[in-house]
Amino acid sequence: MKSFLSKTAREIAPYTAGEQPSDKKYVKLNTNENPYPPSPKALEAYKNLDFSSLKLYPPLEMKALRAAIAAAEGVSPENVFCGNGSDEILALCFPAFFDEGGEGAAFADVTYSFYPVFADFFKIPKKVIPLEEDFTLDLGKLTKVPAQGAIVANPNAPTGIGIPLSEIEAFVRANGERVVILDEAYMPFFDQSAAPLTKKYKNLVVVKTFSKGYSLAGMRCGYAVADASLISGLERCRDCFNSYPVDSVCQAVCAAAIADGAYYKEKNALVISERERLSEALEALGFVVLPSAANFVFARHPRFSGRKVYEELRARGVLVRHFQKERISEFCRITVGSKEENDALLSALEGFIK
Ligand code: PMP
Repeated sequence: MKSFLSKTAREIAPYTAGEQPSDKKYVKLNTNENPYPPSPKALEAYKNLDFSSLKLYPPLEMKALRAAIAAAEGVSPENVFCGNGSDEILALCFPAFFDEGGEGAAFADVTYSFYPVFADFFKIPKKVIPLEEDFTLDLGKLTKVPAQGAIVANPNAPTGIGIPLSEIEAFVRANGERVVILDEAYMPFFDQSAAPLTKKYKNLVVVKTFSKGYSLAGMRCGYAVADASLISGLERCRDCFNSYPVDSVCQAVCAAAIADGAYYKEKNALVISERERLSEALEALGFVVLPSAANFVFARHPRFSGRKVYEELRARGVLVRHFQKERISEFCRITVGSKEENDALLSALEGFIK
């Protein structure tokens, strides 16, 4: 039968998001959400929203939200771009900074698996650099590969490994003639953001999200910080798809959330200390755990495959993420939950790892 789909729709291999099952209640440690609730000030902003204002389109320039982000990041509002989750912004980075059929986008073999999807969708060649044996990224290799620009997740996903800011700055400087996109989705758990460097380096785009460090994954909001010329490229590409990607509720809630830095600093410090406790407890059970700078750990067990760990945990009501992919199929990615959730995970593991 004739297909009415385009070649892209027929052939693209889309990104697979972590499962959100509804068959029963799981201890959900598979999509790196924050275990703590959003700031009470964000809730206040939500409650104070004038419901009748929803008959209007949202504020086009997102002035209040961009001003709140700019204040938190120490930049000007003209250096801030907001989108429907950082996924949308990362997607827009591809047509904004890379040419179809051009020199391509450079990134690691083991990193956020959305990057190759975006590259394929926008027909941008992929320049893939393998991580080292220990899953660290050699930024020198990334610098050497011919490409129109590079994209680095810091901390990386799904490994959790963080790169110190001094090394990132040297990398941005060494790539002065091409764009560097830093995906800092997990930066609230590492605290070495390169966002301030965007004032110094015109080739740098830093992409962040409200989903992890601000406990607002359900809101779908992300932002980019960069020189105004790069921001205008993102705006031009956005306006070819959707001029209003961030709704009015989201703008109000996220502006209030980011203004409450003290609340989140305290909550994210709890996540970090639980991460350390969880890593040690996993090691005591025989797991090899990569050093994590994120709100998840990436671990493998010498006696159980990654799939087996995933399945045994699922059967015991605990969801983690397993990737059936080269180099990482032995691992599971486990989100750091609340103390109670982490304890539930550990006792589920003890149920089959003796
Ligand atoms: N970057 C990385 C590395 C991620 O793991 C995620 C979450 N899946 C995102 C970006 C996207 O986050 P969001 O779209 O929720 O802002």
